[in-house]
Amino acid sequence: MTTEKKRNWKPQTTLVHGGTLRSQFGETSEAIYLTQGYVYESSERAEARFKGEEPGFIYSRYANPTVDMFERRMCALEGAEDARATASGMAAVTAAVLCGLKAGDHIVAARALFGSCRWVVETLAPKYGIDCSIIDGSVIDNWQAAVKPNTKLFFLESPTNPTLEVVDIAAVAEIANSAGARLVVDNVFATPLFQKPLELGAHVVVYSATKHIDGQGRCLGGVILSDKKWIDEHLHDYFRHTGPSLSPFNAWALLKGLETLPLRVRQQTESAARIADVLAEHPAVARVIYPGRPDHPQADIVKKQMSGGSTLICFDLKGDKPAAFALQNALDIIKISNNLGDAKSLITHPATTTHKNLTDEARAELGMGGGTLRLSVGLEDVDDLLNDLDEALTVAG
Ligand SMILES: *Cc1c(COP(=O)(O)O)cnc(C)c1O
Repeated sequence: MTTEKKRNWKPQTTLVHGGTLRSQFGETSEAIYLTQGYVYESSERAEARFKGEEPGFIYSRYANPTVDMFERRMCALEGAEDARATASGMAAVTAAVLCGLKAGDHIVAARALFGSCRWVVETLAPKYGIDCSIIDGSVIDNWQAAVKPNTKLFFLESPTNPTLEVVDIAAVAEIANSAGARLVVDNVFATPLFQKPLELGAHVVVYSATKHIDGQGRCLGGVILSDKKWIDEHLHDYFRHTGPSLSPFNAWALLKGLETLPLRVRQQTESAARIADVLAEHPAVARVIYPGRPDHPQADIVKKQMSGGSTLICFDLKGDKPAAFALQNALDIIKISNNLGDAKSLITHPATTTHKNLTDEARAELGMGGGTLRLSVGLEDVDDLLNDLDEALTVAG
């Protein structure tokens, strides 16, 4: 809603100061404007505000000063013209996918998606007459082959959940452009620090801010970033009238999360890289997938489009599901949870939790079996995490 002066700040400075709106009290930290509405000095000013002749807030479903600070800070970090913050990552994905489409349109989506994202494109959209083709997005030719005359939207996530497969975003963006489709990228796993989809040619970026942006397991949130024209023409009215708005309190927690995002993500990534290397050498482990290791299946694309590895590791145990369950149950510091990006290290068995709704066949297509585990590395001392894993692997192995 407000616009910010463009500055040449590096990300770490932007994440501390970007988008700050100070009140007349000159508070150091961002204020929480926990208000639903706004009052007007006169009937004339209310009229002018509603006509758009006078800037200012009208109703917190549309915009709110604390939420606005979060949106401005995310825009400055991502290099986006405009943004809308949402109550959850799924509210962001749903709005980004549906706001510009109508019955008769067609979506092409990569099959390796966060479970609820796949439900939105594969199950929800067709109910409203929007067709969807699900493809193996890691094979670039599949995108071109799936294009139809009515294709309006491409959707992908990279790295993917849980197998950390990467998709060549620049190559997909080129096909999207020639097809006249918009490319929406779910950038949660890469974080805004390590991958810049807009610079790679994507048109829209979405985040679940619930993950690394909050980073301390407190609030749900999401954000959609794109060019001003698309937001004005498609998202603006959809957002105002369907109400996926972020709470000002949660916006405040997420703003404070952004201040420490680089410190946390770099530390968690450094620990994850070390843990991935140790796991890869362990006799009970069949396979490790980690963006940043030279044996990652698409190491060349990781190198081309990402400036850092990941806070997440995917690995398979030789002993299948019994070994995976035994390992999880034997862990002490690392907690069993389906969340990720938290200060606390969390481990998930995707086949029985986040991906339980897929058929065995669909899971196998994604490279996920009974022995597959996803580890989100937190901020604990890496030696303690390594000891915890080593003891649990002895039990599981
Ligand atoms: C968590 C997640 C979402 C959904 O976000 P919520 O905040 O839980 O609604 C979408 N995409 C990816 C990749 C995620 O990890």
